Amino acid sequence: MVTKMWGGEPYFGLSYEFDPQWYLTDEQKKIQARLIELCESTIAPHAIECDRDSIFPRKSMEALASQDLLALHVPKKYGGMGQNHVCVTMVLETIARYGCASTALVYTMHLLAVSALLLRAGGNPEIQKTLRRMNRDVFIGTASYSDPETGSHFWYPMASKAEKIDGGWRVNKKSSWTTSGGFADFYVAQTTSPDFDGDFSDLSVFLIYADEVVAHPASWDAMGMRGNQSGPIEITDVEVPADRMVGPPGDGARSNDEGLDPIGLLMLAAAYNGLGMGAIDLAKRQVTRTTHADVGMRVCDYPSIQDYFGDAIMDTQASRVYTFAVAQQMDAVTNNCDWTIHEDDLDLLPRSEFLTWSWKAKYIASKSVYTVADRMLNACGGTGYKKSLVIERVVRDAKAGWIMGPTNEVLRQFVGKWALLGFEALDYWNQSVNERAMNNELKKLDDDAKRALIDRLSAELAEAEAAE
Ligand SMILES: Cc1cc2nc3c(=O)[nH]c(=O)nc-3n(C[C@H](O)[C@H](O)[C@H](O)COP(=O)(O)OP(=O)(O)OC[C@H]3O[C@@H](n4cnc5c(N)ncnc54)[C@H](O)[C@@H]3O)c2cc1C
Repeated sequence: MVTKMWGGEPYFGLSYEFDPQWYLTDEQKKIQARLIELCESTIAPHAIECDRDSIFPRKSMEALASQDLLALHVPKKYGGMGQNHVCVTMVLETIARYGCASTALVYTMHLLAVSALLLRAGGNPEIQKTLRRMNRDVFIGTASYSDPETGSHFWYPMASKAEKIDGGWRVNKKSSWTTSGGFADFYVAQTTSPDFDGDFSDLSVFLIYADEVVAHPASWDAMGMRGNQSGPIEITDVEVPADRMVGPPGDGARSNDEGLDPIGLLMLAAAYNGLGMGAIDLAKRQVTRTTHADVGMRVCDYPSIQDYFGDAIMDTQASRVYTFAVAQQMDAVTNNCDWTIHEDDLDLLPRSEFLTWSWKAKYIASKSVYTVADRMLNACGGTGYKKSLVIERVVRDAKAGWIMGPTNEVLRQFVGKWALLGFEALDYWNQSVNERAMNNELKKLDDDAKRALIDRLSAELAEAEAAE
């Protein structure tokens, strides 16, 4: 077994024996080892000031670009490394574990925006030009979806619209949260489609550059993920050429189901798995080095502390193996993450078949990490509570996983409802009527209330018929 190194010394945390290395190719293991070095030299030290002063981790993103990682899963023909979902999972885990959780989130949103572009890169030179700039210009992207009116239902962009104009589109969007908002070089943003008629599944996707966005980066002041700068942005009456629509009009739902959600939730899961492992590593260093003179034992000699570690390691590893298994399946159905398979067939959506597995990966990882980080802080006692040990930062950063959309409340309800009532019952776009609930409520109306309802519905019908 290869020795994991950290600044020329064997790593202070868990060795490779605790990592599911069997998922990785030899080339991917080399990428991992180089990335651990980069975390030690640059990303982890920078994380301290990013957290303390809410600094956007551009320096860490530059470090990732120096290893070509900003184009990790971009096909070689567009200047990328051509890596697969398993590699994306490993890289996210590695950045969050050994480096910086805010950087992992910024990088997640970058790769997410890139994924949406890759899905429709075929035949679009503007997108291809953007893809080629990633590493050379440290050209950072992000995904701007969450809407001020619909909260964590980020796929429901009510405060947005797009219109057809001569030679292109006029785009309007308000986004309540955008990681890297004000610091990114390009934004992938979703709006209702130009021919929108009230059907919120009719969405379109746009590539927007930094100078077309109004952002308020200084407003980001949060419990954790303090470097990621997830502030609001506005795109107001921005006119863009035709090729800045990503895919055809109305491609938004396909983009979500294939380009964004399956891979994005996998990346979030990987980042939170990495964060959990990072907490275990930091705590291991502390408890193996601290001795209580009265009993002559180290903290790690107490059985209660050993129980904490056994529990935390097994919980995190279950989540990691789950996440890698879903990533491997996505590789299997996409010819090893070959984005060119989408070029001739807009309806080819192999990842979307496994979207529900990504939901579960995100849920499990972001639920597990918070408990694991909390237990590791307990294992370190009062020293863990102090900033110097870094575990308190991990606890704060870990909290973001559960609340990021789709939130864990939404995801567990999706899965339970789907299992009990069928997939249609999820009603993503708020379109199907719950007749049981409606009939039950109608039963409660007295005659006057029924008449008032009939009058209101008749007036609405008459208005709709007159408009036709
Ligand atoms: C660190 C961080 C980075 C982010 N980065 C981005 C980004 O880059 N791009 C982006 O688009 N967004 C981003 N977001 C936004 C995120 O995805 C959510 O949209 C946001 O956290 C929602 O916050 P809210 O206050 O609107 O919550 P709300 O949606 O108002 O939720 C409030 C509560 O209601 C619950 N709830 C909501 N709907 C249901 C339901 N149907 N059933 C049961 N419970 C429900 C929620 O689970 C939650 O407990 C980021 C958020 C954070 C914290």
